[in-house]
Amino acid sequence: MLTDTLNRPLRDLRISVTDRCNFRCIYCMPKEIFGPDFQFLPSREILTFEEIARLARIFVRLGVQKIRLTGGEPLVRRDLEKLIAMLARIEGLRDLTLTTNGSLLARKAEALAAAGLKRVTVSLDALDDAVFRRMNDVDFPVARVLEGIEAARRAGLWPIKINMVVKRGVNDHCVVDMARYFHGTGYILRFIEYMDVGNTNGWRMEDVVPGAEIVEQINAVLPLEPIGRGYRGEVANRYRYRDGGGEIGIITSVTQPFCGDCTRIRLSAEGKLYTCLFAGEGHDLRALLRSGRSDEEIAARIRTVWTARGDRYSELRTAATPRWRKVEMSHIGG
Ligand code: SAM
Ligand code: SF4
Ligand code: SF4
Repeated sequence: MLTDTLNRPLRDLRISVTDRCNFRCIYCMPKEIFGPDFQFLPSREILTFEEIARLARIFVRLGVQKIRLTGGEPLVRRDLEKLIAMLARIEGLRDLTLTTNGSLLARKAEALAAAGLKRVTVSLDALDDAVFRRMNDVDFPVARVLEGIEAARRAGLWPIKINMVVKRGVNDHCVVDMARYFHGTGYILRFIEYMDVGNTNGWRMEDVVPGAEIVEQINAVLPLEPIGRGYRGEVANRYRYRDGGGEIGIITSVTQPFCGDCTRIRLSAEGKLYTCLFAGEGHDLRALLRSGRSDEEIAARIRTVWTARGDRYSELRTAATPRWRKVEMSHIGG
């Protein structure tokens, strides 16, 4: 088993298939930075599906059990179902999923499921249409995301997780509404503390709503009890409703970091490998792919990167760290 300097095994691979997105969420791709003049990666610099699938096979041989496709918005990458079909065939891969803003799901859910995708996570920051439009900042209506979620359920992409990033003064008043809406439905709602990823979202500690406060708000109307984490490397602290209405998760990367169990590695759309969500530099795998190196040579490089890994940014976070140079979330996909 491949382990890093803190004895963490390599288990999960997150693959960003594009750095582009049709939303401009205020906490991720603020319009002032990601405006009309922003230079996204040109297509020749982005890994092809064949290159991604080859790397994925190597990662699975090295111990990866779960692959999550992300972005940017993964569903804006054309023919994504072709990549899914290639990944679904990899022997030894136990879980294949995708994180999406849901905007294109109504159209694509069936094709994704048919290609072999097992389930999806949909980001949804508010049910209130005005709040939702303000947060995605492209005036996208919440009703269309809800249609997408329903389409994914009908297509059998189940269980579905719903991710809500909570930002103080923006959508923290929507937490209980969201809990009520998904209570008893089987969807797994997860609340995510607003994080200092990248250097463009103007993150401030005051804008973070601590997970404990979120639990308190919900517990006051729908009583909860903790059930802990499901498996090593799970990021969410889980709670269940005492009335049997299902479970929720809280991802407290800021107030209660979980680096000790972090088994994730991230591959950006242009083929750079990042050992932490808050890393400054990636390791270039595309150069190896495009210079005729063998699978063994690429595997050796990945092994070197993982065994040297000592990242634990969230545990070291201080007043100064948000100013460190870090990769943008839209580049590596959370
Ligand atoms: N576009 C897809 C989506 O929104 O689901 C996939 C990529 S997005 C970067 C992945 C996840 O990161 C989303 O659930 C998003 O809400 C979350 N995210 C982005 N910026 C964040 C931040 N600053 N703090 C916490 N979560 C963030
Ligand atoms: Fe796009 Fe997802 Fe970032 Fe929102 S969170 S801007 S949907 S990549
Ligand atoms: Fe993993 Fe880095 Fe997040 Fe810690 S800060 S949990 S090491 S990605």
